[in-house]
Amino acid sequence: MPQILHGLAVQTEILTRLKPRIHKLSRPPGLAVVLVGQDPASEIYVRTKIKACAEMGIFSEKISPPETATTEELVAAIEELNGRPDIDGILVQMPLPKHMMARRALEAVAADKDVDGFHPLNVGYLVSGRPAPRSCTPAGIIELLKHYQIPIEGRHAVVLGRSDIVGKPMALMLLHQNATVTICHSRTANLPAMCSEADILVAAIGRPAFVTADYIKPGATVIDVGINRVTDLVEAARLGRSEEAVRKGKAVVGDVHPLDIARVAGAYTPVPGGVGPLTIAMLMANTVELAERHQRCA
Ligand code: NAP
Repeated sequence: MPQILHGLAVQTEILTRLKPRIHKLSRPPGLAVVLVGQDPASEIYVRTKIKACAEMGIFSEKISPPETATTEELVAAIEELNGRPDIDGILVQMPLPKHMMARRALEAVAADKDVDGFHPLNVGYLVSGRPAPRSCTPAGIIELLKHYQIPIEGRHAVVLGRSDIVGKPMALMLLHQNATVTICHSRTANLPAMCSEADILVAAIGRPAFVTADYIKPGATVIDVGINRVTDLVEAARLGRSEEAVRKGKAVVGDVHPLDIARVAGAYTPVPGGVGPLTIAMLMANTVELAERHQRCA
C-alpha cells in the first residue's frame, strides 16, 4: 500500500510550532491581503487565509480595490501598506484583472513585506540560498517531505512545470536539499520518460489528471500540486470521482491521475488534502517570520 502524505497533519505541526513565537511578539503579526475585484475563486482563497490568521492570532486586513482600479491605483494602495508599521506582510491575490500589470504590482510590495517570496530580491536570495521569505507552496512541500522523512539528498527530483510561483522555486529548494533536479515543461521532449526517472516527482502544470502511470517510477514519491475542477460526469467517472461530481456538480482533481498515483507511487499527496493546507501554513509562517524581523529591527 502506498503511503498517503496528508497536508493537514503537516499544517497542524507547522502552526503549532508558530504559536509560541507569536506569543513572544510585542504586538500581533499583521497581514494585508489585497484582492482586486470579485473573482469568486479568489474570494474563497482570501477568506481561507483571513480565517487562518484569526485562528492564529495574526491581525489581518483585506484591501479591496474595485475591478476598475488602474495599476497605478493598486500600486498606491500597496505603497501605503508598505509604510504601515502594523503590517508585516502583504499578499496580492492573483490573478489580477487583465488590464493590470501583475509584475508591476508584485514588485511594488516592499521586499521585507513580501510574504509570498515573489519580489526579485527575495528570488535572488532563494537562488543564493540566503534566508528570505520563500514561495509558500514549494516551501510547504519541503516541510511535508521532511515531516514524512522522505529522503531528498542524492535523489533524482523531477519538477513538472516551471512557473515563477511553484515550479522554479520548487526546483531551487530541492536543489538546496541536495537533490539532483530536472525541470520539465511544455516543450520538454519525451515527458513520460523524463518523469519516470524521478524518485520524487512534483507535478505543477494545471492539467487535470495529465500525469498517468507511464510518468511514474514504481515506488516514487509523487507530489501533486494541481487543483483542477472537472465538471464533465463521464470524465469524473473515468477518474474515479463520479460520486463527488454528482453530489457537488464538480470534482476537484490534481495534475496526476488519481487512480494511477494510488496504484504506482510509493508515497503521494492526495487532492484535495495534500499540498493545499501547506500553502496556508507557510503563509502564516512567512508572516510570523517577517513580524519577528520587523520587531527585532524596531
Ligand atoms: P502556471 O503558471 O500555469 O504554469 C504551468 C506550468 O506547467 C508551465 O511551466 C507550463 O509550461 C507547464 N505545462 C503546462 N502544460 C503542460 C504540458 N502539457 N506538459 C508539460 N508542461 C506543461 O501554473 P502554476 O501557477 O505553477 O500552477 C500549477 C497548478 O498548481 C495549477 O493547477 C494551480 O491551481 C496549482 N496550484 C496549487 C497550489 C496549492 O496550494 N495547492 C498553489 C499554487 C498552484 P511552459 O512554461 O512551457 O508553458
